[in-house]
Amino acid sequence: MKVTEKLAKSEKTIISLEILPPTKGKSIESIYNNLDALMEFKPAFVNVTYHRAEQVYKKRPDGNFERVEIRKRPGTVGICAALMNKYNVDAIPHLICGGFSKEETENALIDLHFLGVKNVLALRGDAAANEKFFVPHPHGHKYADELVQQIVTLNNGQYMEEDIIDGGKTDFCIGVAGYPEKHSEAPNLKTDILHLKRKIELGANYVTTQMFFNNEHYFNYVNKCRELGVNVPIMPGLKPLTNKNQLTMIPRIFNVEVPEDLYNEILNAKTVEACDQIGAEWLLAQCRDLLKQNVPVLHFYTLSKPNVIYNVLKQLF
Ligand code: FAD
Repeated sequence: MKVTEKLAKSEKTIISLEILPPTKGKSIESIYNNLDALMEFKPAFVNVTYHRAEQVYKKRPDGNFERVEIRKRPGTVGICAALMNKYNVDAIPHLICGGFSKEETENALIDLHFLGVKNVLALRGDAAANEKFFVPHPHGHKYADELVQQIVTLNNGQYMEEDIIDGGKTDFCIGVAGYPEKHSEAPNLKTDILHLKRKIELGANYVTTQMFFNNEHYFNYVNKCRELGVNVPIMPGLKPLTNKNQLTMIPRIFNVEVPEDLYNEILNAKTVEACDQIGAEWLLAQCRDLLKQNVPVLHFYTLSKPNVIYNVLKQLF
């Protein structure tokens, strides 16, 4: 079912989960092991992230190095199909601009349509590991708004090959990313929201946010979005912060603030279990506050700690 249809039908807050494909070589069982218990809470959607190829240098037998492209986490589309089959849940693949030509994107969309996928999350992607800034594919998209436009074009039955007349229409509901604390490259929050607005005007149907650990950021963001004319559902993205490395890694990579209290509690925790407990309690408090405000969805980011998410959900529902 499309996200928009599900939200229109549902009277209570929906649960949505997000997983990463396992690193190459690992089995899909690692995903099932994480998801099996969480299915008790009947998530409406499971998002599956997409990870672009990386350029790495490999030493050849003659001692020279050769540049090769590797994908550490392939399998997004296959995992979506497997989840839909196993759990009868709507899987939402992430589609990125980075590394994709428009033609490759069109072919990926055709595959997803044939699989019965109803929703996609359209993203630009980050700079490749060997690049300082995002560099689009020479025949691809520079920003996510262009990807949204391409999906809408295909939803209208228009293909890149002009000789395809009366082409079959896809029917994707399109999600895009939003940043309550602004995207790292955006000069200010208003400019970032105006870029978000463009994605919506071009046809995106809903927004999933970057994680945040202070709900005020989310509430302010939703208010500012509404003031600037962004009127689609805005799903809060939530993640438990459960280890000391994340205290500096999360702000650096995701441009989000770690509140002082949470920072101090994790910093002073003595054991892994204590960190999990602190992260779970913080997340639980965030969720309770969001539920009081009747948010449409609670979207839980990454399942690196499925047990923490499980414990939080168990106390909420
Ligand atoms: P855009 O909307 O293109 O915005 C990127 C930057 O450019 C912003 O600063 C924006 O303000 C600015 N901008 C936008 N449009 C224009 C324009 N027309 N002109 C000038 N400036 C513009 N990454 C992955 O690689 N794989 C994933 O699976 C993945 N999943 C994600 C899921 C969520 C919910 C979120 C929030 C992020 C995810 N990301 C993922 C990360 C995302 O790809 C990065 O944050 C990326 O840097 C920006 O993507 P975007 O779609 O927000 O880009």
